[in-house]
Amino acid sequence: MTPSTTPPASSILNADLHCHSVVSDGTLTPEALAARAKANGVELWALTDHDEIGGQHRAAAAARANGMKYLTGTEISVTFANETVHIVGLGFDPDDADMVQGLHKTRGGRGQRAMEMSDGLARVGIKGAYEGALKFVGNPELISRTHFARFLVESGVCKETAEVFRKYLTEGKPGYVPHRWASLHDAVKWITSARGMAIIAHPARYKFTPNEEYALFTEFKAHGGQGVEVVTGSHTAQEYVKYAETAREFGLAASRGSDFHSPEESHTDLGTLPFLPGGLTPVWELLADRIQ
Ligand code: AMP
Ligand code: MN
Ligand code: MN
Ligand code: MN
Repeated sequence: MTPSTTPPASSILNADLHCHSVVSDGTLTPEALAARAKANGVELWALTDHDEIGGQHRAAAAARANGMKYLTGTEISVTFANETVHIVGLGFDPDDADMVQGLHKTRGGRGQRAMEMSDGLARVGIKGAYEGALKFVGNPELISRTHFARFLVESGVCKETAEVFRKYLTEGKPGYVPHRWASLHDAVKWITSARGMAIIAHPARYKFTPNEEYALFTEFKAHGGQGVEVVTGSHTAQEYVKYAETAREFGLAASRGSDFHSPEESHTDLGTLPFLPGGLTPVWELLADRIQ
């Protein structure tokens, strides 16, 4: 048998199923992201803006124009065990009314939170942060910590956004405001009721104890969640191995995505991550009938 008769393993696919546009806290339009993904060799793409699906029709059209396959996407902010967890949704109906409404509600607290963040920054001498952050916002319903970080870099308070998060925007720092996002149950339900797949985003990023992490995966499964990001821009190579094992242990499908936000800020570009490890079920295998 010649090697050419063996079909490639389905894990060998340049799928990038996690990134952000100006519709949330990215700096590129859906069209510019699609062109960049194509140039980097992406074969299957998803735009996953935070708590927002307003860019989905544009992204799907741009993928089509570039000859790439597409899955609808979003990344929902959830509060679990007093920590913010992100749940990626893929392959859902972008016009599903419950999902559109649920995400609208989740976005609702961001304006008030932003004003409180600005007050906190003013108390340490940084004035006008709300107005400053707004200049970087592409979607008025989606003011995020990232926009504050860009303003603090622009105004010379910090050299780069990572430094802003470290010094000002994380728990215990002057610009941090605790916030309650959606429940895990609601987020998974919105996605699955709209025929999509719910996926735990970048699990290594959360500061959970082993017991809390076990509870997250167990409850997520019980609610109908089906996948976990294994290869992501925010995991190390050891974390790919660790979460490949977790995927097998919990019977979850595996996803791959850069979490690209901006050419200036992101260290992982679209389509440049290693392939998924073998021996896993890629999420795109279960979503085959929803690929556009
Ligand atoms: P928010 O949803 O407003 O709380 O903002 C969360 C976003 O901030 C994430 O999606 C990332 O884009 C960004 N972010 C969070 N932590 C960091 C960090 N340590 N360095 C850089 N960006 C971060
Ligand atoms: Mn972000
Ligand atoms: Mn995230
Ligand atoms: Mn993300």
